[in-house]
Amino acid sequence: MTATPARRVLLAAPRGYCAGVDRAVIAVEKALEQYGAPIYVRHEIVHNKYVVKTLEKKGAIFVEETEEVPEGEIVIFSAHGVAPVVHEEAERGKLATIDATCPLVTKVHKEAVRYANEDYDILLIGHEGHEEVVGTSGEAPEHITLVDGPDDVKNVEVRDPDKVVWLSQTTLSVDETMETVDAIKGRYPNLLSPPSDDICYATQNRQTAIKQVAADADLVLVVGSKNSSNSVRLVETALTHGADAGHLIDSADEIDEAWLEGVGTIGLSSGASVPEVLVDGVLEWLAQRGWEDVEIVKPVDEHMQFSLPKELRRDLRAEAAKATDRTEAAQATDPAHA
Ligand code: SF4
Repeated sequence: MTATPARRVLLAAPRGYCAGVDRAVIAVEKALEQYGAPIYVRHEIVHNKYVVKTLEKKGAIFVEETEEVPEGEIVIFSAHGVAPVVHEEAERGKLATIDATCPLVTKVHKEAVRYANEDYDILLIGHEGHEEVVGTSGEAPEHITLVDGPDDVKNVEVRDPDKVVWLSQTTLSVDETMETVDAIKGRYPNLLSPPSDDICYATQNRQTAIKQVAADADLVLVVGSKNSSNSVRLVETALTHGADAGHLIDSADEIDEAWLEGVGTIGLSSGASVPEVLVDGVLEWLAQRGWEDVEIVKPVDEHMQFSLPKELRRDLRAEAAKATDRTEAAQATDPAHA
């Protein structure tokens, strides 16, 4: 008779919301409070179905293109960033914009503009069609070539092999990106690297944590939506770092009981766009089936925070100042304060 393996959950930390997602979601919530519904949002503010549905219930309207927003309304740009042409479209449509692009994506946009101005050929490592890649490419379309993984390097053509720089999408697998960079260097030994990592701290930290968890896990579950790049990368990273099996799930409802057969240790993490309530749901589901023992695996601390988009901060400050003026005026005319 085979002994039942001890049941435990290794819970990766950090997991879930990163500073960029947190800022983007709060920006939509604050905009709804400040200006009232509806508030238009171009594309999913972050790649998570639950977050999008929750904001829709509060009055956000998600659109694919800026042209769908009625003239004069407010539109928020998502955390993934937009190309300059989208800002121009908004201006033509007389829209008020709030740019919730993550500052770490903006950093990559600025790098693209700088290297394009210096006339480099820019090899942007990323996934074809991903919103972030579309936005970054739009900063300098004549200078940027997308490289979608190591196998794509053979297709690259540049004008001057000695004037090539690589940049990357912020949410890639660190290991695979370095493989792609090595393959590019094989063709262009004088390849220039960006001054700092484009793969953001949150993506890197979540991958570091899942690697540690995966080494001891029979099964890894990652909470995240299928269109969330960093969530998909977490499952891939788990599978290449020791997990026997790995699945991406939007919530506990998607867990298949058959996955648990013969499983002792379950690793659990969530992508950077996933609210903690969904992870709590998975923990509860597992606890009901005997996985009550939860151990936190935390190889890195994370404390990053970003301030709200500047347009919103300006209006919130003005509103707060008006409220103070009203209170002072009321006190001045109130005999009780005389
Ligand atoms: S995953 Fe990274 S780049 Fe993307 S929003 Fe979060 S912090 Fe910003």
